[in-house]
Amino acid sequence: MPGLRVPALPTVNDILRMYNIRASKKLSQNFILDPRLLNRIARTCGPLEGKHVIEVGPGPGGITRAVLSQGALTCTVIEKDKRFISILEHLNQNSGHRLNIHIGDVLHFNMENIFPQNLRKPWEGDEPDIRLVANLPFNVSTPLLVKWMRAISEQRNLFSYGRVPLLLTFQHEVAHRIIAPPWDSERSRLSVICQNYARCEYEFTIPSGAFVPEPKVQVGLVSIKPLVKPYIDLPFLLVNKVVTQTFRGKQRYVSNSLKQLFPKRMETILANELIDMAGIDPKARPIELRMDDFNKICHSYNHIIQRNPSLASYVRNFTADSNEDLVYAPPEPEGKMLESGIGQV
Ligand code: SAM
Repeated sequence: MPGLRVPALPTVNDILRMYNIRASKKLSQNFILDPRLLNRIARTCGPLEGKHVIEVGPGPGGITRAVLSQGALTCTVIEKDKRFISILEHLNQNSGHRLNIHIGDVLHFNMENIFPQNLRKPWEGDEPDIRLVANLPFNVSTPLLVKWMRAISEQRNLFSYGRVPLLLTFQHEVAHRIIAPPWDSERSRLSVICQNYARCEYEFTIPSGAFVPEPKVQVGLVSIKPLVKPYIDLPFLLVNKVVTQTFRGKQRYVSNSLKQLFPKRMETILANELIDMAGIDPKARPIELRMDDFNKICHSYNHIIQRNPSLASYVRNFTADSNEDLVYAPPEPEGKMLESGIGQV
């Protein structure tokens, strides 16, 4: 699109040198410098002419530049590290003032009013003209993804504009977990939560050597497109709780893992009732369950807690697990109930 290009600028590498910026370990910064790769990432967002792009964690602006060069109408960036402000302002001046710069932590950033009202699209309609792209540190991208899955389910935050597609980087194993189908050894809580709310596709691997400094792991780029209707159409916190508990102890029979949803003194009777109601094999392992099985499990659990509302807030001692997906876990810690305080069933 004429007029929506970016003139030749010094390379990202030169810019980092000019501004004397070194990657911060604390913020897990790993920069991509290769223009071909940066353009490929921007292209994977789909055609950008006429689109408004949000980029989280632009850093020195490699992806930002590619997005603007490919004709995006605007690019709104959210960056935590203030050291990049001057670089981003320079890019703004050289791109026809199409860049909106926000300094902040994306984990606490509400995008509900970031764009004009007229960009909102009904949830069931076409995708809005908004795309989100981020090459974030792994310790941010996974909790952020779960947060966004909840926002999708409640059509809040960025998703108050409609079904905005996301393109995100993850540690390769986590990317695999996100897309893992039933029976895949990587099938986990993250697979079921993400696939419940979005169509998730592995786009391509970014080798560790493409980053400066080089991380220890390879990186996977995943596209995430919100579904009009989730498979399990129940409140996010309920789905999250049931799915998380089902996967605590992946090798266990599901009849055992589901016991964790209930106070100890009634766990067997209620887990058996749940399994009967859901019509699933008690000897199935969590990784074997399909979305349809999880749908039945969640609805049966919902039925039990509707009958006994005092059970709903029960959460068995959630400790930070070695599995990083589960660290995010406690859905409603303030609602936690002491086992001795459980009412009649
Ligand atoms: N987009 C650049 C690239 O691809 O070369 C930089 C990627 S670097 C892996 C991650 C970027 O995210 C850094 O610029 C870092 O400062 C920023 N960042 C880290 N945590 C953040 C947070 N919580 N909110 C916003 N930005 C964050």
